[in-house]
Amino acid sequence: MDIFDKVELQDCPICGGAGLLEEENGNSFYVACMDCGSRSVNIDYKEEAKREDAAQRAADLWNTGKVISSHPGE
Ligand SMILES: [Zn+2]
Repeated sequence: MDIFDKVELQDCPICGGAGLLEEENGNSFYVACMDCGSRSVNIDYKEEAKREDAAQRAADLWNTGKVISSHPGE
Protein backbone atom coordinates (compact mmCIF):
# COMPACT_ATOMS: atom_id res chain seq x y z
CA MET A 1 0.00 0.00 0.00
CA ASP A 2 1.29 3.42 -0.86
CA ILE A 3 2.46 5.48 2.08
CA PHE A 4 0.32 8.41 1.02
CA ASP A 5 -2.80 6.24 1.26
CA LYS A 6 -1.70 4.54 4.45
CA VAL A 7 -1.07 7.55 6.68
CA GLU A 8 -4.23 8.94 8.22
CA LEU A 9 -4.49 12.70 8.58
CA GLN A 10 -6.86 14.71 10.70
CA ASP A 11 -8.25 18.02 9.53
CA CYS A 12 -6.06 21.08 9.99
CA PRO A 13 -5.79 21.98 13.70
CA ILE A 14 -5.77 25.68 12.78
CA CYS A 15 -8.59 26.06 10.27
CA GLY A 16 -10.19 22.63 9.84
CA GLY A 17 -9.06 22.35 6.22
CA ALA A 18 -7.65 19.28 4.53
CA GLY A 19 -4.12 18.21 5.39
CA LEU A 20 -1.81 16.89 2.70
CA LEU A 21 1.23 14.69 3.22
CA GLU A 22 4.16 15.93 1.16
CA GLU A 23 7.53 14.36 0.46
CA GLU A 24 10.40 16.78 -0.04
CA ASN A 25 13.66 16.09 -1.93
CA GLY A 26 13.24 12.36 -1.42
CA ASN A 27 14.49 12.65 2.15
CA SER A 28 11.80 14.14 4.34
CA PHE A 29 8.08 14.37 4.93
CA TYR A 30 5.83 17.09 6.23
CA VAL A 31 2.11 17.73 6.32
CA ALA A 32 0.66 20.99 5.06
CA CYS A 33 -2.81 22.52 5.03
CA MET A 34 -4.17 23.26 1.59
CA ASP A 35 -6.30 26.11 2.94
CA CYS A 36 -4.26 28.15 5.41
CA GLY A 37 -0.71 26.96 4.72
CA SER A 38 0.01 25.73 8.23
CA ARG A 39 2.46 22.85 8.25
CA SER A 40 4.35 20.43 10.42
CA VAL A 41 8.13 20.51 10.60
CA ASN A 42 10.00 18.28 8.16
CA ILE A 43 10.82 14.79 9.39
CA ASP A 44 13.99 13.60 7.68
CA TYR A 45 14.82 10.04 6.78
CA LYS A 46 18.15 8.71 5.64
CA GLU A 47 17.26 5.29 4.29
CA GLU A 48 14.33 3.71 2.54
CA ALA A 49 13.55 1.52 5.54
CA LYS A 50 12.82 4.63 7.61
CA ARG A 51 10.67 6.31 5.01
CA GLU A 52 7.36 5.05 6.35
CA ASP A 53 8.37 5.93 9.91
CA ALA A 54 9.13 9.47 8.86
CA ALA A 55 5.79 9.85 7.11
CA GLN A 56 3.97 8.50 10.14
CA ARG A 57 5.83 10.83 12.51
CA ALA A 58 4.99 13.83 10.35
CA ALA A 59 1.35 12.73 10.42
CA ASP A 60 1.47 12.28 14.21
CA LEU A 61 2.74 15.84 14.66
CA TRP A 62 -0.04 17.13 12.47
CA ASN A 63 -2.71 15.03 14.16
CA THR A 64 -1.67 16.25 17.61
CA GLY A 65 -1.71 19.90 16.55
CA LYS A 66 2.04 20.45 16.47
CA VAL A 67 2.01 22.66 13.42
CA ILE A 68 3.57 25.95 12.39
CA SER A 69 0.95 28.52 11.55
CA SER A 70 1.63 30.65 8.52
CA HIS A 71 -0.18 33.50 10.28
CA PRO A 72 1.53 33.75 13.68
CA GLY A 73 0.00 37.13 14.41
CA GLU A 74 -3.61 36.00 14.14
ZN1 LIG B 1 -5.47 25.12 7.81
